[in-house]
Order: sequence, then C-alpha cells, then structure tokens
Amino acid sequence: MSRPGPLGVFGGTFNPVHYGHLRSALELVERLDLEELRLMPSALPPHREAPECSAQDRAAMVALAVAEEPRLSCDDRELRREGPSYTFDSLAQLRAEIGAQRALCMVLGCDAVLDIESWYRWSELLDLAHIVVLARPGWALPDQGVVADWLHDNALADEAALHAQPRGGILVQELRPLDISSTEIRELLAAGRSIRYLMPQSVLDYIDARQLYR
Ligand code: ATP
Repeated sequence: MSRPGPLGVFGGTFNPVHYGHLRSALELVERLDLEELRLMPSALPPHREAPECSAQDRAAMVALAVAEEPRLSCDDRELRREGPSYTFDSLAQLRAEIGAQRALCMVLGCDAVLDIESWYRWSELLDLAHIVVLARPGWALPDQGVVADWLHDNALADEAALHAQPRGGILVQELRPLDISSTEIRELLAAGRSIRYLMPQSVLDYIDARQLYR
C-alpha cells in the first residue's frame, strides 16, 4: 500500500489572510506535490492583538478563504489549546496524529526564519518535520551565524528528497512574489482605503460585516 503524500502546515497570524498567503500555499501544494496544506492561525497573546480582531475572527477568515480549494484547509488547533502557541507543540501533536512514516512539512516565510532562534525548542523542530522556507519580497535569509549554518547543514537537495524521508530537512522555495502584507492591509483599512483584490471577496465581506480593523 502506498504511503499518503506529505502533509504541509503553514503557520502565521493571518491578521488578516491575503493572496500572498493563499497563492503561496497553492503553488507550494503543486510544486511539492503535497497531499494537503493546512493554514494554522496562531493564538496571539492579548497584548499583540488588535482588540477588534480575535483569534476566532482570524481563523474564520482563513476558513472562508480556503473554502473552495479542497487541498487547503484551516487548522485551528492553536486556538483550542491553552497557553502560548508553540509551533513545536503543534508539530508534536500533528506527528502523533499522522504516525512516524508520513512526511510532515512546516512552511515558514523567510521573515519568520530570521528570528527562529528565539522559538521554543527551535533546534528540535527538524526531529518532527521538514521545514520549507518561502522566499518573500523584501526579505533575505541570513548568510552567516547559527541560523545560516542550520539552513546549510540540513538543506535537502530537492523535492524528491522531501518525499523520501518523513522529517529532518530544509528546502527553500521561490514562488511567485506577491508583495502583500497583513500590516499594509490593516493600514489601508484604518485609513478608510479599499483592500479589494488583495484577498478573496468572502474575507472582505467578513471584515466589512464586522467592521474589523477600523
Ligand atoms: P504582518 O504584516 O501582520 O506581519 P504577514 O502578512 O507577514 O503579517 P503572517 O500571518 O505573519 O502575515 O504570515 C504568515 C506566514 O506567511 C509567514 O511565514 C510569512 O512569512 C508568510 N507570508 C506572508 N505574506 C507573504 C507573501 N506576500 N509572500 C510570501 N509569504 C508570505
């Protein structure tokens, strides 16, 4: 019996989700031949969150955004867990659910990689999953230091290598660059400007209906 294809998980704040996230997610599914990719919103500590946008709203927008694409979904486990949202804990849970043999890939933008040294048990993440790093307009990966060495020492040769083992490697991917950020979307909304065409209409309608980010 053939083993199921790799499961991907794309963590982030998604405050709110936009086409930069969504198009990258879909292109990654096709490029790496992932069986599915889950967008996993983090539950932020209250001091970092705009009061008008709860974790539940962020997850609801992700769920709306991926509703029509069967290979993408919203995984809200970090909202259902007490305490801080450690990626290590989420990957450990996912690994326990899918067993030791199936490939698991944690997707990170390269801005997230820059501060990965501060993450809880960061050096053990590769014991649980592969890491796929997305290039992002305006950001570069470190070329020296501990994180640069970690990227280099664990680099996978190609997509086939990612399929051949369940965890432990790092693959950097350059996808279609889309220079969209949630920060800019929040700024546009606060200034009363339009955010149309930066995200699916369903998400836009949700933001309008709840008057988020005004
Ligand atoms: P903010 O502006 O609030 O920091 P963001 O747009 O960076 O938000 P996040 O929710 O922080 O969005 O991003 C989740 C993940 O998606 C991160 O790993 C980030 O690097 C990646 N990402 C976000 N926007 C893009 C984009 N336009 N292209 C590629 N990757 C992206």
